[in-house]
Amino acid sequence: MKYDLHCHSLFSDGQLSPTELVGLAAENDISHLALTDHDTLAGLEEAQLAAAQHSISLVNGIELSCTWNGQLLHIVGLGVEPDNDSLKSGVRENKQRRHIRAGAMIEDFLSHGIDLSQELEVVLSGAVPTRPHFAQALVNLGYAKDKQQAFKRFLVRGKPGFVSMVWPSLHEIGDWVSAANGVAVLAHPLRYKFTRTKLVRLIDEMKQAKIEGIEVSTSNTDLQQEDMLSKLAVQHDLLSSIGSDFHSLDQPWARLGSARPLAEHLQPVWSRL
Ligand code: AMP
Ligand code: MN
Ligand code: MN
Ligand code: MN
Repeated sequence: MKYDLHCHSLFSDGQLSPTELVGLAAENDISHLALTDHDTLAGLEEAQLAAAQHSISLVNGIELSCTWNGQLLHIVGLGVEPDNDSLKSGVRENKQRRHIRAGAMIEDFLSHGIDLSQELEVVLSGAVPTRPHFAQALVNLGYAKDKQQAFKRFLVRGKPGFVSMVWPSLHEIGDWVSAANGVAVLAHPLRYKFTRTKLVRLIDEMKQAKIEGIEVSTSNTDLQQEDMLSKLAVQHDLLSSIGSDFHSLDQPWARLGSARPLAEHLQPVWSRL
């Protein structure tokens, strides 16, 4: 068994179609794959069809934007029923926020003399708008040499194109995912650069909000970090997940299937899927 329960398709900020993604998963001997696009369920149907052609179990997933303590967090919902009304209306809400934010970002760029609207339309071609789409439009128009540089010069706090957004709370996200019979886990827990005390406080609040797991193994964690996250999972009785956060083939630091297996003593999130 090989698990990768966090990746993106071109329905959000990924490079590949769900079909291509599932094909790549098969090439990498992944047995269980979750597609977890940002704030959309739109790629799941295609992914399920593709998975049926390979011997892959496709877990219906989503990565939801959330605000906790004034900070943006990502919560991955796994094993969700995409037709659940409560989840669907929550996702609609988040998608709407993304469109509102994108409009405000376009305005902010315009106030800096940068008109991205046409190029963005081409780059998006119907996807849920994300900052990487803006980064790509900036690259295409020559404002940055690559997306990394675009994320240094623009799109982050204090730079042109940054628009802060209040997303739903832990409780709201936990409610949507549990209503859809899914399991919610905190994505990439070390990406937020919290102190241990703050991380523990977050975990306490997550549990009250029915968010029951954390990603212990990601493509950016080393063995020492995974050991630390494993201990947290055991101490706080959390489910453990594995996710590469794969977006595209030109990011060798986050290859599909590259996150290590979990230590034997952990309770894997798939025991509940
Ligand atoms: P958004 O959810 O629209 O704010 O965009 C967040 C996404 O942007 C993340 O999921 C990453 O894929 C990407 N991202 C965030 N920061 C960076 C960065 N510094 N360089 C490249 N990609 C980034
Ligand atoms: Mn992303
Ligand atoms: Mn994320
Ligand atoms: Mn992600």
